[in-house]
Amino acid sequence: MLYLSHPASLEHDPRALIPGHPDTPERLVAIEAALAERDWLGCERRAAPAASEEELELVHTPRLVSSIRELCAAGGGRIDADTAVGEASWAAALHAAGGACELARALLAGEDEVGYCCVRPSGHHAEPERAMGFCLFNNVAVAAALAIDRLGAERVMIFDWDVHHGNGTAEAFRERSDVLFASIHQMPLYPGTGPASDTGSGEGAGFTLNLPVAPGSGEAEWLALIDERIVPAAERFRPDLILISAGYDAHRLDPLASCQLESASFARMATRMRELASRLGVPLGAVQEGGYEIDSLVESLLATIPALAGDA
Ligand SMILES: [Zn+2]
Repeated sequence: MLYLSHPASLEHDPRALIPGHPDTPERLVAIEAALAERDWLGCERRAAPAASEEELELVHTPRLVSSIRELCAAGGGRIDADTAVGEASWAAALHAAGGACELARALLAGEDEVGYCCVRPSGHHAEPERAMGFCLFNNVAVAAALAIDRLGAERVMIFDWDVHHGNGTAEAFRERSDVLFASIHQMPLYPGTGPASDTGSGEGAGFTLNLPVAPGSGEAEWLALIDERIVPAAERFRPDLILISAGYDAHRLDPLASCQLESASFARMATRMRELASRLGVPLGAVQEGGYEIDSLVESLLATIPALAGDA
């Protein structure tokens, strides 16, 4: 199994402008310390390269890309109430998107069957024309677009198990039938998008699968949605690559939401995705999103990686 990361992820710290911000570099420091203690769980480590602006523009407008570049170069600033950048956030954002792209590249080249890209900032709230919700560029969406545009994939499935709706990913592919976007998310919760009735638009109608769950939902609800809705949709869609937007903020200890998953629940979801990928004979990659209670984030990730690798 591949594991991609980059030290630039640790230099992005929204607390410089938003004191008490939950998205801290310490999240990744704790993950990597735990992985290092366990010999990286047998993963092959790789540095996440920087994405090119051309790659970012497979999803984002040149105007968004240049506005973030310029804001960082000017020393940083706030983008919205809970999104802020500093000078070092530019490199962090490029390596975060680039890591997801490298993961797709390696998987579709057959270098491995499964991989994990552990980077910051997260991406799934970033829309084509707008950075928001802690996210600058949509790492998983850029990787999916690259897979189709440049890497020979015809269809990509993205399963977003972060507790928040991946509005950015949904918007990036709203009108496309070559990306199946499936999301389980708590509702009501930020950002407020993703009702079950929104199934995509135009040619993309039917290729967005929004599965909102009520606050307090636990493993039984989440796993049933995977078994009854997501897996059958994936089997009909027949993707060439499966990507997971892997956030851990549906954990019962997470401060930003009120779902009730345990750390082992993420391993059970990962096992289902691994079995799906194996049945379809396609590679599986996970890209880090949220998860803000550090101990449960680390425990969940340590459970998820072996399950993705098929060792669980
Ligand atoms: Zn989240």
